[in-house]
Amino acid sequence: MPDLDALKKDLEGIAIEDNPALVRQKSRDFYWYSPVLKDQLDKVVGDMVVTPKDEAEVIRVLKAAYAHGVPVTARGGGTGNYGQCMPLSGGIILNMLQMNAIKEIAPGRVLAQAGIITADLDRICKEKSGQELRFHPSTTGTATLGGFVAGGSGGVGSIHWGGLRELGNILKLRIVTMEAEPRVIELEGWDLHKVSHAYGTNGIITEVEMPLAPAYDWVDVIVGYDDYMDAVRFADNLAQRDGVLLKELAVINAPAPFDYFTRHRPFLKEGQAIVVLMVAPHSMGPLEAFIAQRKGDLRFRSDKVESMKGIPHAYELAWNHTTLRALKLDTNITYLQVQYGSPDHVAKVELMEKLTGADMIGHLEFMRFNGTIQCAGLPLVRYTTPEKLEALIRLHEENGCPIFNPHRYTLEEGGMKQTDTVQLAFKQETDPKGLLNPGKMIAWENPDFDFTAGKNYLFPGLAALE
Ligand code: FAD
Repeated sequence: MPDLDALKKDLEGIAIEDNPALVRQKSRDFYWYSPVLKDQLDKVVGDMVVTPKDEAEVIRVLKAAYAHGVPVTARGGGTGNYGQCMPLSGGIILNMLQMNAIKEIAPGRVLAQAGIITADLDRICKEKSGQELRFHPSTTGTATLGGFVAGGSGGVGSIHWGGLRELGNILKLRIVTMEAEPRVIELEGWDLHKVSHAYGTNGIITEVEMPLAPAYDWVDVIVGYDDYMDAVRFADNLAQRDGVLLKELAVINAPAPFDYFTRHRPFLKEGQAIVVLMVAPHSMGPLEAFIAQRKGDLRFRSDKVESMKGIPHAYELAWNHTTLRALKLDTNITYLQVQYGSPDHVAKVELMEKLTGADMIGHLEFMRFNGTIQCAGLPLVRYTTPEKLEALIRLHEENGCPIFNPHRYTLEEGGMKQTDTVQLAFKQETDPKGLLNPGKMIAWENPDFDFTAGKNYLFPGLAALE
């Protein structure tokens, strides 16, 4: 058993919290979205929360934790959905929220500490330079930049820019290694993908450089359709029109909008599927023309309502906020993450809609992927048993629709990140004792792990490049 008192002594001068209630609170994320993970992870708890105020303190924490053999699990806003920041082996929860300074804003890029909240980063970049992040998670009000890079995939803006996996959507990362003498390493180019979406298993990110885009006062728009597939085709056709500048394009099937989007209910029609959009002000004219041509029912636009007081942003209806709103009113709901790959993504959506029937309520996020439009499905699922959930996953996979399984807490089983020999070698270099977020990387725990499982990963491995 590690000597935690001796560890605390070594960390004198750095903020430590060991009140059990607060430690328990900081040991959790949104894992409870999944009934499977809720059962598995409910009792997970760390030993203490340590809050470094700068990179020098991160180095001190990792050096001391290494010496005492204590695990360290980084935590940003704690908004991950798959227990990413939950300390499976206890130890230190490294709370990054105090490391929130912006170091430089320049044309097209920003350099900031990893613990900054992405909405704060966006606000300051907009005030100072008229720019904003290319995309952010829908949890932007509470998620950190480092947590997004280490645990997220894409979000609001991915319709235009793609996700974190695309080359150029992260510019630089600075990490601290977990060694006897921790090192600071700067990563660029393909090397960034060793650390992106790796759940903090191979270094603590202290600084992130991200590309920026011009900021707009985006207009929230909701368009209704009586038929889900009409809404899907509207969205797909609009997504291909490069001249209309969008930041968000989602389709959500009935009855979810009317039943779960309570603040928007006065604007919605019961039984309709909706398309949720964020549109640049100068693209509203072209959008109106398109809606008229496609016989859409324009239900809501934020630039025409008297007041937006009490009405959430459009992005807080989309991505995993759709699931959150459903869960608030119906605890039997859970969700899946589906890839409907192009070019026949619409046909795949239609097929799965037919095959799944009442078991699922469709929710699609349109986004760029390797330069083409496709959709990511975040369908709401009426949960009954783990076996039925597995059967639903198999049904998708058998029909050419890969699942990024949100009911698994390891990188490999989650299916977004492909671990491979390059990833494993990097972990051996940066975390030789396996103390960073232990239990999240099967390839580390199991030397016989088969890297060639043949799955389709969102963040592909790097071995193929060598
Ligand atoms: P945390 O949950 O704190 O951490 C995430 C992972 O990163 C953990 O493994 C943690 O150990 C690691 N980590 C955190 N900080 C560091 C660091 N400095 N160095 C190394 N590792 C670190 N995700 C999306 O991609 N897009 C969305 O639109 C989206 N919408 C969501 C909506 C809801 C309602 C919810 C509950 C979740 C959503 N998510 C989404 C998931 C999550 O909110 C995002 O991925 C978010 O960016 C995570 O940031 P965080 O600061 O909360 O990270």
